[in-house]
Amino acid sequence: MEKITSTDIRYTDLVSKRFNKRHMGQPEYICLPTSVAEVVAAVQEAVSSKKRVVVRSGGHCLEGFVADPKVRVLIDMSLMTNVAFDAERSAFVVEAGVTVGEMYRRLFLEWGVVLPAGEHPGIGVGGHILGGAFGFLCREYGLAADYLYAVEVVTVDASGKAASVVATREATDPNRELWWAHTGAGGGNFGIVTRYWLRSPDVSTPDPFQALPKAPATITTFRIGWDWKDIDQAVFTRLIQNFGNWSYQHSGPDSDYTPLFSILFMNHKNIGRVELKGLCTGDNAARLIMAHIAAMQEGLHTPKTLQVEQTSWLRFALNPFPELFQPGFDNVQAKIKDAYFRQPLTKNQIDIAYQYLTANLPIGGMLGMATYGGKVNAIAPDATATAQRDSIMDVACNIGWMDPADEGISLEWIRNFYGDLFEDRGGVPVPNEQTDGCMINHPDTDLTHAAWNRSSVAWPLLYYKENFPRLQLVKSKWDPLNIFHHAMSIVAAD
Ligand SMILES: Cc1cc2nc3c(=O)[nH]c(=O)nc-3n(C[C@H](O)[C@H](O)[C@H](O)COP(=O)(O)OP(=O)(O)OC[C@H]3O[C@@H](n4cnc5c(N)ncnc54)[C@H](O)[C@@H]3O)c2cc1C
Repeated sequence: MEKITSTDIRYTDLVSKRFNKRHMGQPEYICLPTSVAEVVAAVQEAVSSKKRVVVRSGGHCLEGFVADPKVRVLIDMSLMTNVAFDAERSAFVVEAGVTVGEMYRRLFLEWGVVLPAGEHPGIGVGGHILGGAFGFLCREYGLAADYLYAVEVVTVDASGKAASVVATREATDPNRELWWAHTGAGGGNFGIVTRYWLRSPDVSTPDPFQALPKAPATITTFRIGWDWKDIDQAVFTRLIQNFGNWSYQHSGPDSDYTPLFSILFMNHKNIGRVELKGLCTGDNAARLIMAHIAAMQEGLHTPKTLQVEQTSWLRFALNPFPELFQPGFDNVQAKIKDAYFRQPLTKNQIDIAYQYLTANLPIGGMLGMATYGGKVNAIAPDATATAQRDSIMDVACNIGWMDPADEGISLEWIRNFYGDLFEDRGGVPVPNEQTDGCMINHPDTDLTHAAWNRSSVAWPLLYYKENFPRLQLVKSKWDPLNIFHHAMSIVAAD
């Protein structure tokens, strides 16, 4: 297996492939395997020579799990990009190096189907699906991980031997627990995923056109904008309340509104505007969108801009809301602090948000609130490793900065903002009637520190809740030497 070292012209490009420029690694060498056998060989060599190894697929990790100065060997999956239909397993086989956008493209153009997954087309499926993976279509179809039929993983046994194993969700499969762990435990925990097999949970058909949901015939997008100069605290409060109430009323799996997904971007005043962006599929889209917009405007007479457009699923998926992901968007240092909500924000939490989003800050920041639930909430909390199955919203404090000199103030702002939102529960969204922990695809290393998690709930329970002990058993069986680890990886029980 070729080793790309710092003298190779490809090294600089490869080492800087990461969304969050806040973290930086300097591996001794990088491998670009093209087959499962090459992944096994690369892992074996790293383990035998006692070098810390880590895998990267799309490079969209929000923390420094991959870009870590302690990593010596980086295995980059980006040359493993096959997408095909495996008639034997009646499932689509998707290699780990494929990006979400490329997966959407191949599934749509060849078979007219879709896997509900994340929003940014550049995310790698390798590190995405195993973290649950929510996105624009999750309310209508569930999480990507809900479609996982089987996974191929390169693991290392107690003797230090690397090998690949396939684990399926079949009840009779002795490796079933390894499959289950890959439906929500997050990346870098048990081994290197080389391939996923994906199909609708209730379907077993040799016909690829039926094996996943049919892609939407059209997508209707909508954008509403409110100018900050028209927003006072009362308007601010009402917008968040209206969004929370709508999400609460329509989070059930049988809601008529599951085809509708939206995100409320409560941007910092510096950014000038507050925005709601969303989409809806199906023939009723215009009606559902208008009702959603009316609910958002209840009690408000604030001027707004409104844009409604129809497009094809593929065109949308490959460049969703282009103003969101414009050039330079992926050249930032960023911090995200995430929380699942089971109930709308309280008046006190909204007041705190107002305080932080109007505070003096040299750069922008934001409270993003995404509708959640729908078909995500049709699954039992222990059926997959994704335990949060009755939330109504995923809420995240976000900040990004370009100048390293802004890191201090940015981190202080976001940590205090998030901590104050959950001050009455130790600074974190502990599972209770209102909040339900955090999403592992949006990891936040602060939660491992006593200064930022002052609750009695240890960070793994915020992410995995009651599923954590079961994940620990999978860890001790499949990665007994703890070869695959990072700042928030699962640690086996003593
Ligand atoms: C702009 C942006 C938008 C996002 N939008 C969404 C969204 O809509 N929905 C959502 O759920 N999440 C979203 N995320 C989070 C994203 O799903 C996670 O960051 C995910 O882990 C990224 O996977 P990756 O392969 O791109 O990242 P990488 O940086 O390559 O890897 C992330 C983690 O997974 C591990 N990993 C990578 N490949 C493998 C593999 N083959 N086998 C085992 N472990 C692996 C890595 O070691 C690392 O720990 C978004 C992130 C960004 C930056």
